[in-house]
Amino acid sequence: MDGHYGDSTRSVKASGAPAVAGEPVTPPPVPAAAYHLSVDEAAPIDFYGRASNPTWRRLESALAELEGATSACAFGSGMAAITSTLRVLLRPGMKLVVPADGYYQTRRYATESLAPLGITIVEAVADGMCAAAADADVVLAESPVNPTLDVVDLHRLASVCRGRGSVLVVDNTAATPFGQRPLSLGADLVVASATKGLSGHSDLVLGYVAGSRPDLMAGVERERLLAGAILGPFEAWLALRSLGTAGLRVDRQCQNAMAVALMLRGHPAARGVRYPGLPQDPAHEVATIQMKRYGGLVAVELADAAAVHALVERSDLLVAATSFGGIHTSVDRRARWGDPVSPGFARLSMGIEDTDDLLADIEEALG
Ligand SMILES: *Cc1c(COP(=O)(O)O)cnc(C)c1O
Repeated sequence: MDGHYGDSTRSVKASGAPAVAGEPVTPPPVPAAAYHLSVDEAAPIDFYGRASNPTWRRLESALAELEGATSACAFGSGMAAITSTLRVLLRPGMKLVVPADGYYQTRRYATESLAPLGITIVEAVADGMCAAAADADVVLAESPVNPTLDVVDLHRLASVCRGRGSVLVVDNTAATPFGQRPLSLGADLVVASATKGLSGHSDLVLGYVAGSRPDLMAGVERERLLAGAILGPFEAWLALRSLGTAGLRVDRQCQNAMAVALMLRGHPAARGVRYPGLPQDPAHEVATIQMKRYGGLVAVELADAAAVHALVERSDLLVAATSFGGIHTSVDRRARWGDPVSPGFARLSMGIEDTDDLLADIEEALG
């Protein structure tokens, strides 16, 4: 559609509305549970708030545009988008691959809710995804992996899945569509939490599914109608408001991430720095092929848990918080949530502060 434009232009255009004289440039949300029906009983597009909403449609067309998809379906959270998609794709007896090193609640849903229904769950780390996919029915991959920031070769994984006739779903939360477009690399569906970088202000929870296969997207929309994991129109409106500036925020976050990763690599208190944008990073080569931007997350290992707490306490700019992609630079010690990482492993989420201020602050706080 707007393929020749840069990402910020596309996000501004996508978050806007068609030009109609006298109508607001940015239309207000439509909070409605019920709509007037006609006496001829022909179903209008909108008739009930769980089935559809005009503000959702605006958000969904913006998300589809950014992901390069035919359509998108918005949900009340990233987990609602992921679990609805898995319920649509899986039947008893099937085999599902999930990331062993990725977002922990996806793994938990698979083992706690899907395994008891007769679905075989296989956990694989980024490197093992292609091997695990060889006899799977559905593969859910994450890249870059949250929180280790390893990268999955999505093009290669997509060709393994295509060869077997299985469905590849990619969680695009960490990269955002500004970082990569999994559908163009061969994925069948994108799932994501827009709670993170896309809404970007740490004040909204929502998710979406995007894709270009009408059969799969119809199933996802049907699941949302019947299971009811919808988002409110006001949240959809706030997310649209955020999308218009997402390109600006992501660019600054990427710039800050590169600067901080480079600084940390040279710092004696920091080990195991991971950022796909670092030329020395083991994932750099694959990341460079499939990503347009390397993202705003940096992983680092400090000596122990106390060192992570001291970093936050000594800093003036860092906030201790989970989640990521917001305007404030934040630190999350992932072992506290049970991620399989060392006690001193911290995931840094870059905000949009001035790069020099952030560098100076973190360097001083590290001691
Ligand atoms: C946060 C996150 C989710 C879950 O999203 P919610 O909006 O919190 O439900 C899923 N996948 C990844 C990679 C995440 O970081």
